[in-house]
Amino acid sequence: MLSCREVTELLSQAQERPLGFFEHAGVRLHLLICRGCTNFRRQLDFTTRLVSDVPVKTLSYARETGAMFRARDLVLADLEGLNE
Ligand SMILES: [Zn+2]
Repeated sequence: MLSCREVTELLSQAQERPLGFFEHAGVRLHLLICRGCTNFRRQLDFTTRLVSDVPVKTLSYARETGAMFRARDLVLADLEGLNE
């Protein structure tokens, strides 16, 4: 069984590349039993829809300043808190 950290990483990677068969199956299985990662996926889908409307120049700024990675780390910290 994949850990929450592995699943959130794979869900993030799935935004950039197709997951392999076993990665996809592992994520689907994990999402069946984990509310935290299911919420993460919903938030990721929501954010992806929002970001699709943001100008590229703004996204570049967020990437350069690390804002996107800080946001992901905050969500991961919340997920780890749920599993304790
Ligand atoms: Zn999980």
